[in-house]
Amino acid sequence: MAVTLKEKRELNNFLDLLAFSTVERFYPTSAMNYTHVTSLEDTFDYFLDLVESGELSIVWEVKCTTDKFICARKIKDAHSKEVLLNKDVTCDICGHEFTVSANDLFPAFEITPDFRQIVREDKKKTSNRLKIKRSYARA
Ligand SMILES: [Zn+2]
Repeated sequence: MAVTLKEKRELNNFLDLLAFSTVERFYPTSAMNYTHVTSLEDTFDYFLDLVESGELSIVWEVKCTTDKFICARKIKDAHSKEVLLNKDVTCDICGHEFTVSANDLFPAFEITPDFRQIVREDKKKTSNRLKIKRSYARA
């Protein structure tokens, strides 16, 4: 499955908003809260496509996954999984010690500086165009 055209547009609008905000990092689930997209897998796949084409970069976060209670402390992160896998880590909140496995890794995404710049310049142009139209209207 893949995201539909409508979903793609919603996700792109979400990314445009983020490019204007100071948000550094976001999760596929936050995109789903903002849009009507219901499949986490499709959202993730679409973002991976955007990593491929340069709009986004992916960051893997190691979260504390102790099964005794919910901690979910972010312990470490890196742009590649390989840097994190099989490393021994300790949670500074609950003291849980573990070796990082694929199950402890959670994907997050960041807007690349290039894409952020393009979106911002685009919006500037749009507002200039509006200004031009308004001055014509006045004349
Ligand atoms: Zn913990």
